[in-house]
Amino acid sequence: ADAPPPPWLTGLNPEQRHAVETTEGPVLVLSGAGTGKTRVLTTRVAYILHRRLTRPWRVLAVTFTNRAAREMRERLGSMIGPVSESVWLGTFHALSLKILRRHAGLAGLRDGFTILDADDQLRLLKQLMTDAGLDPKREPPKGLMGRIQRWKDRGLTPDRVPEDDVKGAAGRRAGDLYARYQARLLELNACDFGDLLLHTLGILQKHPDVAEEYQTRFDYILVDEYQDTNVAQYLWLRLLAARHKNLCCVGDDDQSIYSWRGAEVGNILRFETDYPGAAVIRLERNYRSAPPILGAASALIRHNADRLGKDLIAAGATADDPDAPPVKVRGLWDGEAEARWVVEEIEALGHEGLPAAGTAILVRATFQMREFEDRLMACGVPYQVIGGPRFYERLEIRDALAYLRLVAQPDDDLAFERIVNTPKRSLGEASLQIVQKHARAEGKPLLNAARDLSDGDDLKARAKKALAAFVADVDRWRALVGGLPPAELCATILEESGYAAMWKADKSPDAPGRVENLEELVGAVAEFESLDAFLEHIALVMETESKGAAAGVTLMTLHGAKGLEFDVVFLPGWEEDIFPHRRALEEGGQASLEEERRLAYVGLTRARKRAFVSFAANRRIYNNWQASLPSRFVDELPDDFVEKASDTGLYGAVTAGFAEEPGGWGTRHARRSLNGNGNGGGGGGTRLSPGTGSWKARDRSGEGTDIAVGQRVFHQKFGYGRVLSNDGGKLAVDFEKAGRKTVVAGFVEAA
Ligand code: ATP
Ligand code: MG
Repeated sequence: ADAPPPPWLTGLNPEQRHAVETTEGPVLVLSGAGTGKTRVLTTRVAYILHRRLTRPWRVLAVTFTNRAAREMRERLGSMIGPVSESVWLGTFHALSLKILRRHAGLAGLRDGFTILDADDQLRLLKQLMTDAGLDPKREPPKGLMGRIQRWKDRGLTPDRVPEDDVKGAAGRRAGDLYARYQARLLELNACDFGDLLLHTLGILQKHPDVAEEYQTRFDYILVDEYQDTNVAQYLWLRLLAARHKNLCCVGDDDQSIYSWRGAEVGNILRFETDYPGAAVIRLERNYRSAPPILGAASALIRHNADRLGKDLIAAGATADDPDAPPVKVRGLWDGEAEARWVVEEIEALGHEGLPAAGTAILVRATFQMREFEDRLMACGVPYQVIGGPRFYERLEIRDALAYLRLVAQPDDDLAFERIVNTPKRSLGEASLQIVQKHARAEGKPLLNAARDLSDGDDLKARAKKALAAFVADVDRWRALVGGLPPAELCATILEESGYAAMWKADKSPDAPGRVENLEELVGAVAEFESLDAFLEHIALVMETESKGAAAGVTLMTLHGAKGLEFDVVFLPGWEEDIFPHRRALEEGGQASLEEERRLAYVGLTRARKRAFVSFAANRRIYNNWQASLPSRFVDELPDDFVEKASDTGLYGAVTAGFAEEPGGWGTRHARRSLNGNGNGGGGGGTRLSPGTGSWKARDRSGEGTDIAVGQRVFHQKFGYGRVLSNDGGKLAVDFEKAGRKTVVAGFVEAA
């Protein structure tokens, strides 16, 4: 007689169980967030092995992140024990690497080939560009890198790049460099990340015997987060599944959020055509989120036109909670107040039995984390940042802090070393060694040694000149300490040093985020009286940070949170231009807006018990106070499931377009003009309508391009003056009392 089915199987609902037990033939599970897709996938592997349909090493399961792979392996282990260890389980990249290691020769590589990191890739590309007679300064290699990556996402080797992609002189050059880059990698016995997939794909395509080996080997193939696969991954899967066609993909078109990395949601739509007779299974019961959260998320995503459409019903323990509180939506005065509110709520939830360890703050962009990190630290609430360094540990922030440290404290040699040649100032290793030697011999800090050498014979003329300019810069900034408000000093340093410009000119995908982080840093400095006070704060912050992390609040981006779940989720910064993100709106139109909305849907559906959405009416961007508008997504949340906090009157005031809020505007104006650019908001009276181009009117960059030469302006420190010139936001102003000064446009207002 048959043994009774294991509990992990009987716990599933009928549709889930159907998806698990339909082991033969192609299966597509298409369903919304929290319906148990990942659970089905894991259980399916367990079921296949439990029924002994095949051996563990003949099962291939693909997850989206290494972390997801780890979790799946753990769960498998708890269901069926150690046999689970032999399952081929991992990301596309990890699994490709495993295959590639066995057949390196077929891709033109030798055993023990290396995988380049992003820095190595760039260095290599730069060399090739220089060899080809190009100027990497005029054509940043990162632009080309991105182009090559997109080709690889599409499974295109250099000989397959379509004509249309390499039209014109620049296009031809790019195609040519791509070919050289690939050839050079082989010479180095190396490959980049994208090659892992590309080479494997090539091997499977060109060597039928190898393809057959794997096609026969993998009796069952399973894929999570199918909506985010790109073309190369799609082809890879199609090849491997060609023989048995026991391919089970699970996904949710509403959670497709990686199109910017080449993902094609069309892969889902094509499934039934590619695999005729595929079983398409829909799961409709959501086991994760309390009904109000699910209701809010479903209503939000219904605003997308481009979707397959499906409705979800709450099920399981969460659905049975009649007291499940609504999604709390809260408008706050500014970013600081928002962070304070969030941490207060976290502490209050702790008393209700919802500890910080089950709580996440999910942001659209990494710069938003800073305010929360500061507040969490100040309150002693433990936290961890997932998927990236903490704010003050980020590369660009450490660089910027090194500038500030050197200005505050000229014997800070570590700071000097870090930035003396960042951005590049044509100071070679040899020159810097001479400076070091001199410093040691004379017992002087590096800055002073540099000062000595900038006017002697030890260095080559070019290095001498660069060093002299750097020392002069530092001296000039030092003279401003105490004279300028610290935030303005910080902004001045970042601009005059060329450091901000370096990232602005950078074409890599992470550069805009770094620019935002730098702007956020200026905002952070603005909260302090003096540069020293700020640096002291940082020193303390770093100190607490390095102490071992207790389980605490999770801070991460919305993109990183895909597939995860938390008891409590905070979604701050729901403001136009932040979320939906300005870049997405400017560059991609309706399609991008819908992708932003899917991201909001992903965010809300991470929550099991409580979800909080917030927005601030004022943001300090690069030390400008700007009026923010609540995100259109806030309006799209249905009243039935949300509670919009109006106790401060702010919510009403803000959504009504800053209508006559007694007292509100007066204080707002007072504060704005006290702190900076009074006309920076641009969103004063009415709600901006999207897509009219009025976004651009809102100057977030702080470059104050609307300040004209000849205009009379007011500066907090220097008083009234007239603008003599405007050099990309750096104003020369003749002040009535203070005389001629250079100031950053964001710090003056029209008078
Ligand atoms: P996402 O789209 O966010 O990736 P998902 O569809 O993959 O979500 P899972 O993460 O698999 O959903 O499941 C969501 C939650 O619901 C998990 O905590 C899971 O354990 C639980 N769950 C799934 N199915 C059931 C069930 N039949 N009974 C009880 N709980 C379930
Ligand atoms: Mg999942």
